[in-house]
Amino acid sequence: MASENAVERLAALQRRIEAACRTANRAPGAVRLLAVSKTHSADAVRALALAGQDAFGENHVQEGLAKRAALADLDLEWHLVGPLQSNKCRDVATHFDWLQSLDRSKLIPLLARHRDPQRPLEVLLQVKIDDEPSKSGAAAADVPALADAVCNASGLRLRGLMCIPAPGTSDARRRAFTAMRLLFEDLQRAHPGIDTLSMGMSDDFELAIAEGATLVRVGTALFGKRRTGLP
Ligand SMILES: *Cc1c(COP(=O)(O)O)cnc(C)c1O
Repeated sequence: MASENAVERLAALQRRIEAACRTANRAPGAVRLLAVSKTHSADAVRALALAGQDAFGENHVQEGLAKRAALADLDLEWHLVGPLQSNKCRDVATHFDWLQSLDRSKLIPLLARHRDPQRPLEVLLQVKIDDEPSKSGAAAADVPALADAVCNASGLRLRGLMCIPAPGTSDARRRAFTAMRLLFEDLQRAHPGIDTLSMGMSDDFELAIAEGATLVRVGTALFGKRRTGLP
């Protein structure tokens, strides 16, 4: 049975997403919710799934694989939103539905080799939108070539862009989200099939929706505080 708490948290978040869509003059269904379940138990994911949430994001490949296996009886969609190392490409290609954090071309053949072309991996390019040296993500200038490389690989389907702006003022974040939207619109001219702009987390998803996000990634506002000291 779905726990009442999960049902309420999900409904409250959906109301906030719909309100942000209305404020931005966007259709109520224009924004998809990804529940980021890193550090939370498979049982917590199950409760949210039974409340109606069907897409979940994980930061670490092994943690995602373990939860996916524990919840194999449910029909869920799994996204990797954390950094990807080349030695994990096979696991990602085999067991995830979406990769939101592709940021270098070197990984493309490693993913393609292990993916069934009949069931392509949905790919977002992670962009380092404000030049924070420590963060992962491709430079905006490298996005067109990286996008072409994904499109030319078998078993991978380009769906759009993702970013994690540096922590900062809401003005700085809004600028980052606006820059992402412009980059996304440019990329759409070359690749009209792309449809996903993944930006916004618990603290700033309303701002991201105002700037054109089509998918928001929310952890804390759905699951409560993370259970370990992971970022
Ligand atoms: C953890 C994480 C989120 C969710 O963050 P919250 O602030 O808990 O909503 C979203 N995206 C990525 C890439 C994350 O690592």
